[in-house]
Amino acid sequence: MNITKPVGTTLDLIGNTPLVRLEGPSKAAGCEIWGKCEFANPGSSVKDRAALYIIRDAEDRGELKPGGTVVEGTAGNTGIGIALVANARGYKTVIVMPDNQSKEKMDTLRALGAELVLVPPTKFADPAHFVHTSRRLAEETPGAVWANQFDNIANRKAHIEGTAPEIWEQMEGRIDGFTCAAGTGGTIAGVGMGLKAFDENIRIALTDPHGAALYNYYANGELKAEGSSVAEGIGQGRITGNLDSAPIDTQFRISDEEGLKWVANLLREEGLCLGLSSGINVAGAVELGKQLVADGRKSARVVTILCDTGFRYLSTLYNPEWLAQKELPVFDWLKPA
Ligand code: PMP
Repeated sequence: MNITKPVGTTLDLIGNTPLVRLEGPSKAAGCEIWGKCEFANPGSSVKDRAALYIIRDAEDRGELKPGGTVVEGTAGNTGIGIALVANARGYKTVIVMPDNQSKEKMDTLRALGAELVLVPPTKFADPAHFVHTSRRLAEETPGAVWANQFDNIANRKAHIEGTAPEIWEQMEGRIDGFTCAAGTGGTIAGVGMGLKAFDENIRIALTDPHGAALYNYYANGELKAEGSSVAEGIGQGRITGNLDSAPIDTQFRISDEEGLKWVANLLREEGLCLGLSSGINVAGAVELGKQLVADGRKSARVVTILCDTGFRYLSTLYNPEWLAQKELPVFDWLKPA
């Protein structure tokens, strides 16, 4: 039995998440696949780590003062992390979010006390994009800071100093590969940099959903998107500040159907209820495992990120009507009789 050490403040509950061996994925890959349980953070996602580092960094730089406001544009999880950290530190939170994200995230943000500003989804070049809207709001609000998770490298520092050393220690220094998808890129870049500092032979793979431009960028130098995905929180069209100099050795592209297959398998066979980005990450980890085995690393050990809880998507991924609308397969056990 693993008993975690007691901690002094609620903010110390962020990070130090468990790492679990995933049986189905390990079998499929023919080697060991491990999942870092980021849904175990207080805000139920990997983004609590970035929220904490971004807010601490703004405090350290003297930009964020008692009673101040943190403003951010987010698909939801970063907002939830920021709202919790801001509450614990005595700040207000304003979150700008595209209105096509899950209702659970919007309800959660309001419940946590954040002010929620919904904007229509649009391309990054449009000044009405949620990222630009959040920057303008921060500029117009006295005492506010803009978290700027995409280009603020305090985000990836959370993974260089936190997630990567945790994985290295939990794997007892025996790890051959790491992969995950990118939203801001903070996780893949930060964990990649952190793990390479321990052992530069650890293969770092980007797992990209359809509709994102990074697969083509790392495969042949061109930022070019193909297809589309309903996965929330991942899928990037540019090299963000956090992705700059990320040590990516190889890349995979994973469809929503393949990701959903792993979400279903992990739920029904291993009792883990996850969001789609986790399913896509696990599919990528299986590909990376197979590649390492084919390259002669027979007992390869691969780690990926289980980014957030499936409870955040009851109205979407776990809702047969929503899935049918998106022409995606409905989980067998949810099919109408
Ligand atoms: N999965 C989910 C559910 C997310 O909300 C995010 C954050 N946008 C990610 C994955 C990707 O993390 P990162 O921003 O560190 O690339």
